Amino acid sequence: MSETIRLCPKCSDVMQIGFIPDFSYGAAALETKWFYGEVTKGFFGGVKASPMGGIPVHAWRCAGCGFLEFFAVPKPA
Ligand SMILES: [Zn+2]
Repeated sequence: MSETIRLCPKCSDVMQIGFIPDFSYGAAALETKWFYGEVTKGFFGGVKASPMGGIPVHAWRCAGCGFLEFFAVPKPA
């Protein structure tokens, strides 16, 4: 398995893959996901989004300058 190497578009240093967990319920139980379209709110003001839907967001961080770049790529079947 080959390891992907990305270089920072700002300073050309090596970028590291990571993710941004959702701490909404006091624990890192959820991963951040991308959903198509504009935000719609439910009766209690929360964002309408199915926990089973969406595409996981991967974050690349530059080890040199801290620049962040996000990708939403579906997991392979
Ligand atoms: Zn950088």
